Amino acid sequence: IQKIAVLTSGGDSPGMNAAIRAVVRSCAFHKIKCIGVFRGFEGLIEGDFKTLGPRTVKNMINRGGTFLKSARSKAFKTKEGREKAYQQLQKEQIDAMVVIGGDGSFTGASIFIEEFNFPIVGLPGTIDNDIYGTDVTIGYDTALNTVVEAIDKIRDTANSHNRLFLVEVMGRNAGSIALNAGIGAGAEEILIPEENLGRDRLIDSLKRSKKAGKTSSIIVVSEGDQIGKNIFKLADYIEENLNEYEVRVTVLGHIQRGGAPSCYDRVLASRLGVSAVDSLLDGKSNIMIGISHNQITTVPFSEAIKNSNELDLELVRVADIVST
Ligand code: ATP
Repeated sequence: IQKIAVLTSGGDSPGMNAAIRAVVRSCAFHKIKCIGVFRGFEGLIEGDFKTLGPRTVKNMINRGGTFLKSARSKAFKTKEGREKAYQQLQKEQIDAMVVIGGDGSFTGASIFIEEFNFPIVGLPGTIDNDIYGTDVTIGYDTALNTVVEAIDKIRDTANSHNRLFLVEVMGRNAGSIALNAGIGAGAEEILIPEENLGRDRLIDSLKRSKKAGKTSSIIVVSEGDQIGKNIFKLADYIEENLNEYEVRVTVLGHIQRGGAPSCYDRVLASRLGVSAVDSLLDGKSNIMIGISHNQITTVPFSEAIKNSNELDLELVRVADIVST
């Protein structure tokens, strides 16, 4: 292997820059060329490439987002699009690639490997922590810290007015952000898609909290939760059926994707980036590099995209106990 390409694809996450930097510097360490691909698979199809040397990634470790930019590419979902991408790689004499993204990006990469027998290794870059085969994904820790900081601020105003706040957080179909940030921010209730406990149980629980002397409340709602899906309707329902608090809604939205990566994410991204280049040089492909019990692990793309991380029942129990 003489030349490795790196791209970021799908939703961006804090720490992607740190991962790119690690790939670039690892390539320099092994004396091989590194090519940055702009705008994910879309840029791959168009040949939007730039040679990246170790100094081109200076001052990157602390920057949120991805300087290579990310994209969702419809064309890459077609055979013609992927043909063009392969031609661009051949033209540039690229031997292997690191794809930093989520399960969609790994699905696309996996199809591409099958069609062209082109070596690709993936790194999990998403705030949602919804990828099987890794304890955490790049950007997740930073997003948790952002959510907790935001809820701390909401708590100040909730307390001053005896209000109940519904705070919607990201996570797609995974409740990891909601559950962990909910515990970290001291939420009264946490609604996650994996549980779907229903509106009536929520009302009963809020009534009990009120009786127990609580004067304000914060409910963290994962965007994928069934009853939380329309958070404004849920707010109306609580106001009508509880009649105790004024209910307010905050949708945290894209602030969760931004900001400087936490130290944890920077170290994680650096470890995974170095390992990605090692794996390609070892002749590996069609795998994602992850972390499990603080050890680097590899899982086939086919497993990583199953998307079946199980609900952590111990965390659910902790959340229940500490919110009473
Ligand atoms: P996130 O979880 O942060 O959204 P993601 O990688 O899952 O990240 P997607 O938009 O699902 O984001 O996928 C990124 C890109 O991967 C798509 O825009 C598309 O180009 C490619 N891709 C996804 N699914 C396929 C597929 N079935 N075939 C080919 N390419 C695909």
